[in-house]
Amino acid sequence: MSVQGDWIRILMPTIQQYVGAVNSGLWQAGDLSGVRLTSWLRDTTRNAQVGGSPSSQHLVALATDWAGSFDRLQFIKAMNAQGLQAIDEGSHVHVQAFAAGTLRRLGVFQ
Ligand SMILES: [Zn+2]
Repeated sequence: MSVQGDWIRILMPTIQQYVGAVNSGLWQAGDLSGVRLTSWLRDTTRNAQVGGSPSSQHLVALATDWAGSFDRLQFIKAMNAQGLQAIDEGSHVHVQAFAAGTLRRLGVFQ
């Protein structure tokens, strides 16, 4: 599976919306002095190295990972309130733009 060429031009407005929504979520998430952004855009090699899904939204800059010491429940609620999908993965909280499988259905991945 690979990302279709030209994706960044097509998805750039969506990426900008995603970043805006994450930023709004961060403002609502309370004390984030202990949070670290640990992953955003990954190429397919890096994505495979970290065990990411072949259709991971990290491949198109529509997912971020957040680690460190912070109130995860409040963080997840704040991201969900922005319409984002936030999932506690144990070592980090993963925040993606769309429900799993959405980009595959839209033909972003082949
Ligand atoms: Zn992630």
